[in-house]
Amino acid sequence: MAKDYYKVLGVDRNASKEEIKKAYKRLAKKHHPDLNKESSSEEKFKEINEAASVLGDDDKRKQYDMYGAEGLKFGRAGPGGFDFSGFDFSDFGFDRFDFDSIFDTFFGGGGRVRSPFRRARTGAGRDLGYDLSLTLEEVAKGAKKKIKVTKNYVCEKCDGKGGTGITACPDCRGTGVYRETRRTVFGLFQTSTTCRACNGTGEAIKEVCKACDGTGRSRKTKTLEVDVPAGIMQGAKLRVGGEGEAGYRGAGPGDLYLLIHINSHELFERHNDDLVLEQNISFSQAALGDKIKVPTLDGEASLKIPTGTQPDTILRMKGKGIKHLHGFGRGDQLVKINIKIPKKLSRKQEKLLKEFDKSLK
Ligand SMILES: [Zn+2]
Ligand SMILES: [Zn+2]
Repeated sequence: MAKDYYKVLGVDRNASKEEIKKAYKRLAKKHHPDLNKESSSEEKFKEINEAASVLGDDDKRKQYDMYGAEGLKFGRAGPGGFDFSGFDFSDFGFDRFDFDSIFDTFFGGGGRVRSPFRRARTGAGRDLGYDLSLTLEEVAKGAKKKIKVTKNYVCEKCDGKGGTGITACPDCRGTGVYRETRRTVFGLFQTSTTCRACNGTGEAIKEVCKACDGTGRSRKTKTLEVDVPAGIMQGAKLRVGGEGEAGYRGAGPGDLYLLIHINSHELFERHNDDLVLEQNISFSQAALGDKIKVPTLDGEASLKIPTGTQPDTILRMKGKGIKHLHGFGRGDQLVKINIKIPKKLSRKQEKLLKEFDKSLK
């Protein structure tokens, strides 16, 4: 008989997400097997989590409202992406049970499932960091970068399985958890630890893969191609999903984080999405006006020097800067004008300048 998830959480059929979240938090605390020693608490706790994982997810809730529990396709990964059937919450002490993280998983709306227990149980791969240097040109337009990463990859020989002839681990009967009941003055305590025989995978391997020693992963250096978006900032962390260390025996990989370093440029200085260039012009160019060629990240471009340009004037070249990270368009190139006074004059130049000077009076 299908359960009524609304009844399980004690909320109205048109309860808001916030109300559901509150109800879940209250009930989960009340029935957590570590705090509530009634024998029914574990079952109740599972029920609450199952209900919250459905009602906390907009899509699943809609499906459930329409078709009931049968309408949700309970595959290997049950509602909410967890397989609650084989899941023993008592494996996790109350202090290790991160309610907020569970909420995020249920209520966060999409995203990856990264609950603390899943990582502990399955030996998911670690996240990795990588220092990535970029030129200003690459930042301006975005780039595909090839990087060499040495890490644990999924073993190609066994496809990450660790070997062949895989059966349930006899030590833990396939649960991955070793359980022990102790009698203390406070009563019976059940402690659970990761099964050492199978490292918590719940599997025993008949023929261990020689290439990876049964771990399902092997250390190698490979070239990865990563996309760097235009406009990225110095010190930004760019996540490349699933490119961290491979997990133990096919467990999910970690993520790769690229830490962005931007090399300084010999001509341009970056100010947000604008580029600043210092440009020398002559005294007469400033006075008379001119059209000159200046470097840009797209190659040379012409710039009009207006008549009577003053020292330190900043001329703006629209759209010649760095592409905006969010939204369309590009920043500008700002050209700061330096006026060069000649240090040496020829006899003729001197004469002309003196004449010029006289004309001013
Ligand atoms: Zn085992
Ligand atoms: Zn292997």
